[in-house]
Amino acid sequence: MARLQDRVAIVTGASRGIGKVIARQLAIEGARVIVSTGRSFEAGEAVAAEINSNLGKAIFIPCDVTKSEEVSRLISSSLEKFDRIDILVNNAGITRDTLIVRMKDEDWDDVLGTNLKGAFNCSRAVARIMMKQRSGRIINVSSVVGLMGNPGQANYAASKAGLFGLTKSMAKEMAHRGITVNAIAPGYIETEMTQDLPEKSKEVYLNYIPMHQFGRCEDVAAVAVFLASDEA
Ligand code: NDP
Repeated sequence: MARLQDRVAIVTGASRGIGKVIARQLAIEGARVIVSTGRSFEAGEAVAAEINSNLGKAIFIPCDVTKSEEVSRLISSSLEKFDRIDILVNNAGITRDTLIVRMKDEDWDDVLGTNLKGAFNCSRAVARIMMKQRSGRIINVSSVVGLMGNPGQANYAASKAGLFGLTKSMAKEMAHRGITVNAIAPGYIETEMTQDLPEKSKEVYLNYIPMHQFGRCEDVAAVAVFLASDEA
């Protein structure tokens, strides 16, 4: 039997990049997947359609994770459709890179609002359901930048470091109800988020990596599937 047979999984920011591949891999492992995204509705629909065509089961539900009323709608629609929620992957994320002296209030607020408050909004909403079920898996997609810091990314680094605190606190609050909460901290992964970085910066990042190669979305998805499974 597939590792996630009939589990119900929500993936935020699943219209492209890492989230799209996580959604696909969860479906291949047998999960019924709610593909969600904030603005790229056609792309989100297309991801769900592709999964339904030959990989497994999926539906598309739009949700801007910064808006708690949209998050409530995402969770209630998911429950109406599938009756339970087993896995939440908080993947939605943005960057607004600039040096701290040039950083505008909205650069800070948008990044913290999406990457950290968005994960809080979704986690709080599913926690109530998972606690009643006495089981669940919450997976937060953080970043090595949250551990190391990075010039030009003070807002992003702070949001991703904040996710570690959120993850560890939720794990401690919810373990006794059979819920695990984990964070993944990918290094540089080739997606739209990273494609516009100058070649010089890419070379600097490559030099930090012993194997001297960037990660792929599939590498992150494999970790997410493991953390969602009974093996974790
Ligand atoms: P992309 O920019 O390719 O995709 C980001 C996704 O997040 C899109 O689906 C986007 O959809 C969605 N999104 C953005 N804002 C919102 C919002 N307010 N509500 C709902 N969805 C939203 O990024 P990646 O795939 O590269 O990154 C995915 C995650 O992985 C992010 O959290 C990122 O920080 C993290 N990460 C990425 C790394 C990398 O090197 N690429 C490295 C480490 C971590 P829409 O257009 O509809 O808003």
